[in-house]
Parts: sequence; structure tokens; C-alpha cells
Amino acid sequence: MKHTTKPVKRLSNFAVNYFFVSFFILAFLGQSLYQRAQAGEADSQAVRGPGKKRRAEATRKRAKAKTVTRRLVKGKTMKRSVKTAAIASVATLPGLGGTRVAAKSQRLKGAVYYLASGHGGPDPGAIGHYGKALLPEDEYAYDVTIRLARALMEYGATVYMIIRDPNDGIRNEKLLKLDHDEVTYPNQPIPLNQLARLRQCTDAINRLHRKHKGAYQRMITIHVDSRSAGQNIDVFFYHHQNSAVGKRLAQSIHRSFTAGYKRSQPGRNYLGTVSDRSALYVVRNSQAPTVFIELGNIRNEKDQRRFLLADNRQALANWICEGVRADYSSR
Ligand SMILES: [Zn+2]
Repeated sequence: MKHTTKPVKRLSNFAVNYFFVSFFILAFLGQSLYQRAQAGEADSQAVRGPGKKRRAEATRKRAKAKTVTRRLVKGKTMKRSVKTAAIASVATLPGLGGTRVAAKSQRLKGAVYYLASGHGGPDPGAIGHYGKALLPEDEYAYDVTIRLARALMEYGATVYMIIRDPNDGIRNEKLLKLDHDEVTYPNQPIPLNQLARLRQCTDAINRLHRKHKGAYQRMITIHVDSRSAGQNIDVFFYHHQNSAVGKRLAQSIHRSFTAGYKRSQPGRNYLGTVSDRSALYVVRNSQAPTVFIELGNIRNEKDQRRFLLADNRQALANWICEGVRADYSSR
């Protein structure tokens, strides 16, 4: 008896084990493929704050799960995590598979921002020299812009990174490497011709502007090649001469810079200016009220300090975000 049953039993045990192992492997593969598909979709969907219902639902579930875990660990944090679960929404930044950003508040809920860093693709913009290193304007403008995107998303805003890089997320290095793979939203190769490039950018914004008709919408573009090479002006904020709301946003960000410099470098005399410059292509052609910011000049040795350190780039993004928030809450 023993002789006949043993191999059969062994075989059936093997079959059962094989079945379970395959089941778990398939379940795991299925789940990770699903997650990847979701991340891909979110990435191609622009960077949105309170996103589509389905994603928001998934987020709520994740936040809820987190709450339960926390509750098990610490009774005291319960109340706070329940509140977080209620307001959390998660969106992803372009680059590096998408950095997940969770909204901490909804103070910018309903606001739609189009963020465009200057240049990109085949056009690096101005090039600064730092020792033997080259400082490409488009990479530094991009890093401040994507930090601004994250900050705005943390307040629940809907944010579109109009110029996007599939593999550059937020970078903390001092020297940012020049590449040419930036695209215009959603995934258009950037032409070298300046007019074609700017038109592509404003066309992308104007298409989205129609889609969000009726919402509070603003466009912010960031450059690092101001005309101030020999001048003493820090930051230029430009708006369209006929856009009262564009001017108001520019003034609000300028006020935030004034306060920021006062706090961080009290002895320094910050000199920024707000002026109209309607001849700038994106200022003239964007349907969304636009603020064109020149954060300095990457070729200017004095200005380079403002961009080399990641902390400084973050401070610039925070100050812009503060001004943006103040403008939205006083609208
Ligand atoms: Zn520029």
C-alpha cells in the first residue's frame, strides 16, 4: 500500500504547491502591471491635483489603509491621519517614472496652472560657465519649475508641466546635466525653430485652456537668461499690458520675493521689477493670463549662486508658490 500511495501523494503535493506558487506569481505580476499601467496613464495625463474620480478613489483607499496602520501603531495620531485621509489626493510629476505628490491641503483646489520652463529639447537656452562646467539655462529653469509644480500640487492645484522631461525629476545636484529629450505636453518633440517652439507651447496651453473653460487658469513661464548681465536687477516679472489679472499675479509673486529676501537675507537689497512686456510671444499668445519670470541670468557669476544649490532652487519655487497662493486666495 505504502508503495503505491507515496508517489501519488508526492505528486499531488507537488501539484498543489505548483498551483499556489504560480497563482501568487501571476497575481503579483498582474498587480504590478496594473500599477505600471496606472502610473503611465497618470504621467501622460499631465500633472493633476485632484485627478479623475477613479484615481481619487484609489488614493482615498490608500490613505485609509495608512490611517488604519497608523492607528494600530499609535493611538494618538489617529485624529490627524483621519483628517489627512479626507483631503489627500495623489498625482505624479513627469520624469523618473513620476514622483508621487500627495496634496496636504486643498487651498488651491480649482486652480489650474500651466508651467513652462524656458527652452528645452534641442534648445538649451543660455549657457553659463562655472569653472569647467557648463550651466544650461533650460535645465535650471526646469528644476525650479518642477519644484514649483510639486509645491502647487501639495495645495491641491491642477498643474500641467507643459515642458516635460521623461527622465528628469527633481534633481538635487549642483551641476545639472544638459540633455535634449524634453517634450511639449503631452509628448510632442520640440522643434529647434524658436517661433515653432513657442507656438507649440502656447497651442498646448490654449487647447487645455478651452478644456478648463470657466476655471481660474494661469500660466507661469520661468527663464534664467534675463537681460541684466551688467545690471543690478534681480528678478523680472513680465505680464501683458492689457491683463489686469496677469499683472496682479506678477505683483503678488514679486511681493513674496521681497518678503522672502527680507527673511533669508535681511541685509541684502532685493531689486525686482514688475513690468508689461506684451511683445513676448507666450505673453501675447497664451489664452491663460501669463507671468513671465526671469529669475536671473545663468551667465552672471553673481546670479549663479542662486541656482547652483538645490536649496536655493527650492526657495525660489516656494516663493513663487507663496505669491501664487496669495493671488488665488484674494481673487
Ligand atoms: Zn530663456
